[in-house]
Amino acid sequence: MMIPILMYHQIGQPSPRGTYLRGATVHPRRFANQMRLLKMLGYTGVSMKDALPYLRGEKQGKVVAITFDDGYVNVLENALPILLKHGFTANYMVSGLQDNGWAQAKGALPSELMNADQMRQWHAAGLEVGSHTIDHVYMTKVGKEEGVRQLRESKAVLENITQDEVQSFCYPFGDQSLEVREWVREAGYSNATATFRGLAHAGDDMFALPRVSILRSTHLFNFWQKCCTPREEKKRQRKG
Ligand SMILES: [Zn+2]
Repeated sequence: MMIPILMYHQIGQPSPRGTYLRGATVHPRRFANQMRLLKMLGYTGVSMKDALPYLRGEKQGKVVAITFDDGYVNVLENALPILLKHGFTANYMVSGLQDNGWAQAKGALPSELMNADQMRQWHAAGLEVGSHTIDHVYMTKVGKEEGVRQLRESKAVLENITQDEVQSFCYPFGDQSLEVREWVREAGYSNATATFRGLAHAGDDMFALPRVSILRSTHLFNFWQKCCTPREEKKRQRKG
């Protein structure tokens, strides 16, 4: 059983040419076409929590997990209506920040992150809220004490907002190690996504799941190849 876990960041109009991370913003029309294609092919879009039984081999079916890193307001505004239209759920990952300051430092345009009310709106629509630390830190660089605090506090804050269990985590910058994975497990999460490329398999380490990155430049044919054909699988095997 192989499951594509899609990794999106922003859904909106692209920043001007040459802007840092311009490629990480997918146009709403392109996102709509991607979701429509998945629906036509018989896939159901699910959150990480809902993907777990498939990853554990307990359930069979054509599912694709959809994740949005960082929790941008434009995901709530542009992606949520499209997801709901197809009956898809998804995950979004948030940090305790108001905007993407960590990326602005490198030249990205400012982009707002969801506030507590907006998170509740996302959650109330039946979608999952996951954690992405409090401050969008490099988990292997902050040391154990701070790393564990980032995991536990973000979980507690989000659980307080949603009044629901937060069980999915996503490593900022994809930065993780065997030790960090253990902290995530100990903090009470059930899964964590990284940025390795490829489809997720039953039997993978649930705390370092690979994903399929969808960018502004990912055309529909390319999207289909990445999600629904063994192409990503071959890449994964080559990299070992
Ligand atoms: Zn991030």
